[in-house]
Amino acid sequence: MERKPKIRVGIVGAAGRMGRIIAQGLHRATDMDLVLAVDREHADESLRDVIGPHMPDVPIRSKLGEALDETPVQVIVDFTHPSAACQHALSALKRHVAPIIGTSGLTSDDLKEIRRQAEESGTPAMVVPNFAIGAVLMMKFAETAAKYMPDVEIIEMHHDGKADAPSGTALRTAELITQNRRAWPTENVAPIIKLAGARGANLQGVQIHSIRLKGMLAHQQVVFGGDGEILTIRHDSLDRSSFVEGVTASVRAILGRTGLTVGLEAILDN
Ligand code: NAD
Repeated sequence: MERKPKIRVGIVGAAGRMGRIIAQGLHRATDMDLVLAVDREHADESLRDVIGPHMPDVPIRSKLGEALDETPVQVIVDFTHPSAACQHALSALKRHVAPIIGTSGLTSDDLKEIRRQAEESGTPAMVVPNFAIGAVLMMKFAETAAKYMPDVEIIEMHHDGKADAPSGTALRTAELITQNRRAWPTENVAPIIKLAGARGANLQGVQIHSIRLKGMLAHQQVVFGGDGEILTIRHDSLDRSSFVEGVTASVRAILGRTGLTVGLEAILDN
């Protein structure tokens, strides 16, 4: 039987907390070839110097566009910063390279622009707010519960280095809830707010509370209230390894798709 060629893949944000873990996952995948690494830190060092001797001797480049022009890849995976991720996606699409964006904090305008460019260039793109399978199931369960229990609040908890709030996962969960609830939530305005922000942020009737603390990684509770009952759906990512399988599954799936795919749930049953 003929062996399928390996997927040539690049990691952007390679020296970051996520990038280092994901780079190792991509290198371990026997059907992938990790041939490109980009990060504005550690430029010109190699993945081997920065991550460890088990990694390939791939140089870290500081600019994605230049790196893509010199090293052909089919897919890039981006874990950088909300200020850079959209540009990275567009830069890849322009070169017919499929971007998978794990960076959170993209705006709806960013998504529109990525979708447009993906369709125009005939190159697929993915934006995935959470690559952990348990987190995707949490969102699915919340989507189901919202049909029957419209009163709900979200508490998301992350490490103190997270750049954006609320998290992409919390926003996506709230979006799914608002698309699926059959009734508007009970009006619950605290008449006396003694400290601004005490009730959190509000996305179309869903309150979202963001905790940022040392010791946390990525956690979320979706709390539904009914008459005399509470339903709590909780997910905890205890280690960044929880995101690796979702990333490798996305790399395998993306080349068979068209346009923009949002969320890991779209490829789960493939
Ligand atoms: P980090 O700060 O540890 O790492 C980001 C890396 O990107 C850094 O090494 C930085 O130098 C690099 N970088 C930033 N801007 C760049 C640019 N313009 N060009 C090249 N390199 C650049 O952050 P992190 O904890 O690894 O998180 C990265 C992103 O991933 C965040 O948005 C976070 O919320 C998101 N995240 C997503 C998931 C998911 O499942 N989708 C899971 C965890 C984290």
